[in-house]
Amino acid sequence: MTAIPAGQDVTGTRQLAAWRERVMPPVEQLAGGLWSIPVPIPRNPLRYVSSYAFASGGGPGGGLVLLDTGWTASEAWDALVAGLESIGAAVTDVRGVLVSHMHLDHAGLAGRVRDASGAWIAMHPADHAVIANPDLRDAEHAVAREVAFLRSLGAAAQEAAASVGSPDEYRAFTSIALPDRELSDGDLADVPGWRLRAVHTPGHTPGHLCFVDELSQRLFAGDHILPRITPNISVHALEGTQPLADYLESLAKVRDLDVDEIMPAHEWRFRGLAQRADDIAAHHERRLGELLAAIAANPDATSWDLAGCLTWSRSWDQYSGRMRISAVTETAAHVIELVRRGLISSSGGEVPTYRVAARAVG
Ligand SMILES: [Zn+2]
Repeated sequence: MTAIPAGQDVTGTRQLAAWRERVMPPVEQLAGGLWSIPVPIPRNPLRYVSSYAFASGGGPGGGLVLLDTGWTASEAWDALVAGLESIGAAVTDVRGVLVSHMHLDHAGLAGRVRDASGAWIAMHPADHAVIANPDLRDAEHAVAREVAFLRSLGAAAQEAAASVGSPDEYRAFTSIALPDRELSDGDLADVPGWRLRAVHTPGHTPGHLCFVDELSQRLFAGDHILPRITPNISVHALEGTQPLADYLESLAKVRDLDVDEIMPAHEWRFRGLAQRADDIAAHHERRLGELLAAIAANPDATSWDLAGCLTWSRSWDQYSGRMRISAVTETAAHVIELVRRGLISSSGGEVPTYRVAARAVG
């Protein structure tokens, strides 16, 4: 049985039932002119992203705006197209795509939807800047850049190269569609008939956006707040310098929003925003405490080595490739936060190592 956080009020009960049965949830109509379409993410434990379809200006005939689209895979595309057909619409009816953040499971199909329909694509300027960076538009450069970044975290040359993989594996990332429009904090999205207010929530990515529907008091949370898992908060070569501090601030920013239901991009819909925000913040505080103890026990270690000193859901030697990279970059995000709080000090230099700060010991 999938463990759900104690006391969580699950509203996406069909989603949770499907999760437990290990099948895809159904397309659901959530309100007049609002549907969720599950789009599978192949070979990924997240299983699917929920693409939300908003009828703009009446029924599907007036056009649709999608919030998030799905991974760049043919089975994802087919599911999105079939989902739209099941609500009486077609891809050609889509007039806009809102992107919660630049990751492939959210933005991957946006370009293909635009090609098919002429829709605009909108995202936050900070994520736009990351995916438009020339170093990320070229797979060879992107690989070299990430290898160098992992070496700065303490990876040996060979391990860094093996973990990152080949430029071919990078191509999907380097061809993510660039947006036609930008949405900043407080902007209203261009969805006639709805009042979807963008809330900038940096952390998971520098330009992550949630949307509050001010008419129905729903929070479309993207990956910022998920009901069961915590989103990966990592440092990246080209992104923010203190992602965990940003993320904790973004949690506080949404915690007390006057919303009734949370509509996440993965897993299931639920109620109880403040409780979930508190639980996720507490998770990171526990993790910071565990890391501080690891640094006390292993002075002068790199982030790469410290990651192997923490507890993970499986044994550390089972983490390779992308999994190891995200474990290390998430550890590094916590290291940066401990430095920022003055609890540890960095040696500086090309490959920093860390010690518990003198004043933290006394
Ligand atoms: Zn996601």
